Amino acid sequence: MLTSKKVKEIMFSLGTDLCGIASMDRFADAPEGYHPLDVFPTCKSVVSFGCRFPVGTLLCKSDIPYTRVRNSITAKMDAIALDFCMEMEKYRAVCVPVPTNESQWDKNTDRWRSIVSQKHAAQAAGLGTIGRHSLLITPEFGSMVWLGMVLCDQELEPDQMKEPICNDCNLCVDICPVNALEDREIKQQVCWNYAFGDDEEKQVWRIACHKCRDICPYNLGSQNSILIKGE
Ligand code: SF4
Ligand code: SF4
Repeated sequence: MLTSKKVKEIMFSLGTDLCGIASMDRFADAPEGYHPLDVFPTCKSVVSFGCRFPVGTLLCKSDIPYTRVRNSITAKMDAIALDFCMEMEKYRAVCVPVPTNESQWDKNTDRWRSIVSQKHAAQAAGLGTIGRHSLLITPEFGSMVWLGMVLCDQELEPDQMKEPICNDCNLCVDICPVNALEDREIKQQVCWNYAFGDDEEKQVWRIACHKCRDICPYNLGSQNSILIKGE
């Protein structure tokens, strides 16, 4: 029988740093059309995984390393999800990878959405909790993780969900240069218009803002704190 332990062994062998499993009852609040069952009708479990985002990119004066890592880590996450699905088929488990960084327009809510929310799946799978800045915060790596997900047709033992980590200090809300976090739901387009785009002078596409990530007291997590602060 395929156990959660075995599933995680497979996922970790592919190079992930975090892995958790969510049961279907934890997606009751998913927006219409964006539930795992809307994507994969025989889905019985969701496997969420995370890879560390190199913390040094936060310390750079140049925007380029953060931008390039963000762009290349998405390919890595999609490759892991694909390899995981093929490996699971050896155990007669049918799985579907959810693209790590691909959105479609949801006319019901006027937002771009992943076909299933990576952050909500990670929260449902016990990897961490979503902070006021709308990023996932994990105990180990803070918000310095990138997320991937696979939908699975096997019933697997779910992980326990975490207690909220964000303390609602509002530092992220106050520092945002364009007030994209003033409502509980991030103003997606306002953030993207400011943070993503061409540097006219240097003529390069870059991510120019991650201030909400930088300022959060929980942005590093226990493992990155050892690296940065020697704690
Ligand atoms: S990335 Fe920058 S613009 Fe976007 S929400 Fe965070 S602080 Fe605001
Ligand atoms: S800065 Fe404060 S309010 Fe914002 S996510 Fe971090 S803990 Fe939560």
